[in-house]
Amino acid sequence: MDDCIFCQIVAGDIPSRTVYEDATTKAFLDANPLAPGHTLVIPKDHHEHVQDMPVGVAGDVFATVHRLVAPVQDAVGAEGSTVAFNNGEVAGQEVPHAHCHIVPRFTEDGSAPIHSIFGERPDIADDELDDIAGDIADDVSE
Ligand code: 5GP
Ligand code: ZN
Repeated sequence: MDDCIFCQIVAGDIPSRTVYEDATTKAFLDANPLAPGHTLVIPKDHHEHVQDMPVGVAGDVFATVHRLVAPVQDAVGAEGSTVAFNNGEVAGQEVPHAHCHIVPRFTEDGSAPIHSIFGERPDIADDELDDIAGDIADDVSE
């Protein structure tokens, strides 16, 4: 993907503050960090969404996230982190190459849990919840 920023980072055409890489994944500091230490973990191959990654690659990405969380937090003295994907444009994904954010968190950083981006919770009837759970369960086992 010639016009993908993250593919260009993988290729070395755009510089990055790389903190870890292996055969299938790369991790580097976010250029516009939400907090000191804000790190992105990506698959080296271009896949737009979480569900587009082959399961093995998705496992490799998560293994890198798992490996990096403590070093990222420790580097900046954070007590926790928000670990998240913006998955799809509607969810705020701006770079169309799947990436996991590790954002260090501090007691008084003025931020909030991921739940806070959703505002008021929808009132969903029990039978609708049953239908949704059934649809997901049917689809995932196909
Ligand atoms: P998204 O909104 O797609 O989940 O997040 C994309 C992230 O990529 C943003 O936090 C943004 O700051 C970061 N970003 C965009 N372009 C570059 C770049 O060229 N280099 C690095 N290191 N980060 C980038
Ligand atoms: Zn890409």
